[in-house]
Amino acid sequence: MRIQRITAYRVELPLHEGSYQWSGGKSVAVFDSTVVGVETDAGIVGWGEVCPLGPFYLPAYAAGVRAGVTELGPHLIGHDPLDLERLNRFMDLALKGHPYVKSAIDMACWDILGKVAKLPVCTLLGGRHGDDFVLYRAISQESPAQMAAKAAGYRAEGYRRFQLKVGGDPDVDVARIRAVAAELQPGDRLVADANTGWLMHDAMRVVRAVDDVDVYIEQPCLTYGECLSVRRHTRQPFVLDEIIDGIEPLLRGHADQAMDVVNIKISKFGGLTRARQARDLCAALGIAMTIEDSWGGDIVTAAIAHLAHSTPPELLFTSTDFNSYVTVSIADGAPQRTNGRLAASTAPGLGVEPRLAVLGKPVVVVG
Ligand code: MG
Repeated sequence: MRIQRITAYRVELPLHEGSYQWSGGKSVAVFDSTVVGVETDAGIVGWGEVCPLGPFYLPAYAAGVRAGVTELGPHLIGHDPLDLERLNRFMDLALKGHPYVKSAIDMACWDILGKVAKLPVCTLLGGRHGDDFVLYRAISQESPAQMAAKAAGYRAEGYRRFQLKVGGDPDVDVARIRAVAAELQPGDRLVADANTGWLMHDAMRVVRAVDDVDVYIEQPCLTYGECLSVRRHTRQPFVLDEIIDGIEPLLRGHADQAMDVVNIKISKFGGLTRARQARDLCAALGIAMTIEDSWGGDIVTAAIAHLAHSTPPELLFTSTDFNSYVTVSIADGAPQRTNGRLAASTAPGLGVEPRLAVLGKPVVVVG
């Protein structure tokens, strides 16, 4: 089987809540997502999606996805989409870096592999664990009272894990953590994600001020060294996200006991192939994981579901359902949240069928 043509579509994904705010005053109101179709000479089409969290979260931006597919795509025509390790090695030779560009292409090729094998991607990634898996809800950065009200509302919808966007004024962040913690019940989990927004002294003050609260601290500072310093001064469970973008930082973090949980985002690692490699390594090392992506619609949510559902439940700290945050559905068949939990499709491949009327005309056509 050969790749014959690659297309990319630009879709806008507005948010139900109007906007999403996190550390440093960063926010997004309408997400700019790219859907990639990989067409084969066998008539099978695979679908992928990548959606950066704006241009200021990771070194990734939406127009860069399309530019990257235009650059990389011609090199992939004629390659076998089923040989995923070979394809990823080749993508790394043809375009240095830019893992988010490769993510949507790799995801589409997993969709093709599943359609050829007549198996859900979840099975190909290791097998389905149980009926469903646990989700978290991200609580956009607002006042402590507003965040507490949002957490209570989402708790009423069935969520039991909450990730607060902090990384602002440290004193207000302490109030945010305490206000939301007061809404939760035993068994719920609370994460305070600073998204690199604190300096070390800010982080030290916050972790000390919430020492009596059952809360995880996520990515307090910009660099690995800063995060490690905070980690060594706090008793709270510790999550690393932005700086864990490959195997080397993962192994370093493990060797230094720098974290208890890591956040594996599919596009941060460059696709399902690389994210699975990191997932399996974490599982072998006993490191719990949040499995998700930077953002996305129905296709990203489907891919997350296949990777999360094939992860041993005791190691899956949490996952996410981005398609419930946005007002536009870009594909049929995507998983839908029930009571704060999600399940991967049992259909072959990713189990999604893009809504071509929503995608419109492709903005990139290669081949
Ligand atoms: Mg995070």
